[in-house]
Amino acid sequence: MKIYDIAILGAGASGLMAASLMPTKNIAVIDSNSKIGLKILASGGGKCNITNKNVTVNNYLGDKKFIKKALDNFTPKQLFSFLDPFYLEFEVRKYGQYFCKKSAKDLVAVFENLTRHCTFHMNSKVLHVDFKESFIIQTQKEKIYAKKLIIASGGISYTAIGASPIGYEIAKSFGHSLITPAPALVGLTVQKEQFWMKSLSGISFNAKLSVEDKVLESDLLFTHKGISGPVVLSGSLYWKKGKISFDFLPNIDLSKLLEKKSKKQISSLIPLPKRFMTEFLKSIDLEDKSVVRLKKEELEKLNLLKNYEFAPAGNFGFTKAEVTKGGVNTDEIDAVSFESKLQKKLYFIGEVLDVTGELGGYNFQWAFASANSLATHI
Ligand SMILES: Cc1cc2nc3c(=O)[nH]c(=O)nc-3n(C[C@H](O)[C@H](O)[C@H](O)COP(=O)(O)OP(=O)(O)OC[C@H]3O[C@@H](n4cnc5c(N)ncnc54)[C@H](O)[C@@H]3O)c2cc1C
Repeated sequence: MKIYDIAILGAGASGLMAASLMPTKNIAVIDSNSKIGLKILASGGGKCNITNKNVTVNNYLGDKKFIKKALDNFTPKQLFSFLDPFYLEFEVRKYGQYFCKKSAKDLVAVFENLTRHCTFHMNSKVLHVDFKESFIIQTQKEKIYAKKLIIASGGISYTAIGASPIGYEIAKSFGHSLITPAPALVGLTVQKEQFWMKSLSGISFNAKLSVEDKVLESDLLFTHKGISGPVVLSGSLYWKKGKISFDFLPNIDLSKLLEKKSKKQISSLIPLPKRFMTEFLKSIDLEDKSVVRLKKEELEKLNLLKNYEFAPAGNFGFTKAEVTKGGVNTDEIDAVSFESKLQKKLYFIGEVLDVTGELGGYNFQWAFASANSLATHI
């Protein structure tokens, strides 16, 4: 009977990074997909937003102390040093996001190269895990034995590319508690009062969003289902069913603009898409007339452009969510080794943990940083 030193459940971002950083180990990598790194390939429109210029604990939901240790030990700079020998090219976008210049395929090729020492068990869906002197990993096809087991199985969003709740089930079977998993980095649906937004499908502009104690600024996109775009996706991370508020004109002093007593119609004066202004004015019951003709209370109504508060109805669900928030309780995981405090030689890294980043490369950075901490320890 072959016993591996280490088995890694998941050939995704964190599992591949962990395997790459342990070149001398006898490692099995197990995944239900037929190919490695499918989520990397699907990410960032095929160009993978690998990390961000500005990574801090404030970009994450979860225990800040726990998150900080791993992030400090593997910064974006260290990620680029790690990738340096492979001559990958990156481009930086407006909000500091680094994308692969050509294709995410180049990054997956790096991992293929760095994990040649591993034995891959692909098309092998893991069903459950037992422990008797070593870990016994039951897949659909066979039993795999290992002295150490790393759970890098991600969250439950995007089941079409392999996601499953196995990481949570294994954690529970070894006595771990879970923070209830929920969809995140996902669009939000709207209530009847905001149905006017649905008719704006395809319109996008920069906006500021206040949600809980967070203020985020990026592009807002209207869709036939509700609201989306980077600012809403990141906001969904912090949203707890209450009210949110938009500043649709984040860098504009509206009162100064209106002071000019322009003869222009409101929708021509306000620098927002005309279709948006038409529907917005209808929703607040204000005629699109020339600004000089506006009465005091009508001018006041326009302040809603700077502070439009409402409660979304819900979100677009796990099928559309880029990540899962919640997961294995980090109180029960060692912040340096990523070993379970309840079961020796069992480790959890990446998205399966209760750590979730905003949109912008933060989730890959977490997957890589947690894998680095664990690999350094092992
Ligand atoms: C469409 C999309 C785009 C994204 N874009 C970005 C982006 O640009 N930047 C960013 O930072 N983040 C992005 N993310 C989030 C990011 O992909 C994840 O946070 C990250 O991949 C998590 O890494 P992980 O290793 O924890 O899990 P994953 O990369 O999800 O890997 C988990 C692996 O476990 C395998 N697995 C699961 N269950 C089983 C089982 N029962 N048996 C065997 N194998 C199993 C899966 O097949 C998968 O290969 C995106 C996510 C999606 C869905």
